[in-house]
Amino acid sequence: MLHRLSEAVVRTILATPPVGCVVPGSVFDAFGWCPSDVLEWRRPDLWTPDGDVTAANPGGMVFVMREACEFLPRELALLHAPGLGLSGEWALAPYAIDDATDELYARRVAPGSLLWLAAGDLAGLVWGLHDWAHFHNHGPFEQRAWTELQCDLTALVWLRQNRRDVGIDDATWERARCALSGVALRRFVEEGAPYQEDWLSAERLVDLAGE
Ligand SMILES: [Zn+2]
Repeated sequence: MLHRLSEAVVRTILATPPVGCVVPGSVFDAFGWCPSDVLEWRRPDLWTPDGDVTAANPGGMVFVMREACEFLPRELALLHAPGLGLSGEWALAPYAIDDATDELYARRVAPGSLLWLAAGDLAGLVWGLHDWAHFHNHGPFEQRAWTELQCDLTALVWLRQNRRDVGIDDATWERARCALSGVALRRFVEEGAPYQEDWLSAERLVDLAGE
């Protein structure tokens, strides 16, 4: 669902239905504690869906707070998301994704009641979806590569399901899939654990997307 908020800002309501847990059950202590439903995403009308997705934190991506929230680190949204007509709105500090994952769960605050996503390129959208998965599934982060793999997989399924509203073609989705697969592989290598290419295979993700 796509709405033009103004000449320069487009708001898209992305469907983010729950995706099943495909990693070992011990990875999360509260998988799906809050069933995900939608993510509100705003972007500048002119955005760049063809940029690269890498492991780096994407610039211009931030979760904006619907109201000032006292229990999470915050910064002015405008500092991170220009071009969206923001002024005094607060955003979750970009370094505080783990804090939000912990605190939203501890306080049972539904992520969508507090946050919407500002992102102006494909990397920002992909990592925003990845973080959206974290927020709905609490884990102790003792098996980091596995935790992140579930969030990568969920982000790619959601990107696939929403690709028409997002405005990307299959080749762009495939590029994002290959990028996240490479990032996931490196995490497993760093932990000295084996990685199987088919965990994030196109066939599997398309199937999980319900196609
Ligand atoms: Zn993550």
